[in-house]
Amino acid sequence: MFGIRVLIYLVGIALVVWILLRLARSSGTKKKPLRQVDDMVRCAHCSVFVPRNEAIQEGDRHYCSTQHRDQDRQ
Ligand SMILES: [Zn+2]
Repeated sequence: MFGIRVLIYLVGIALVVWILLRLARSSGTKKKPLRQVDDMVRCAHCSVFVPRNEAIQEGDRHYCSTQHRDQDRQ
């Protein structure tokens, strides 16, 4: 009887560890979009967020379009 109890206990621990590992993995994948948010820059004209690689840079400022860059120049 004692042996079966230990076995059930070990299986229970293994199950908890497996669930925790799954949760850790799912939270790890959820962090990826946050990294992309870090690469977002704000348009200095209309305050809209645009990806850094799509933004138009003018000195230390970023713009969502060339139109807004030109409007801010005036
Ligand atoms: Zn803009």
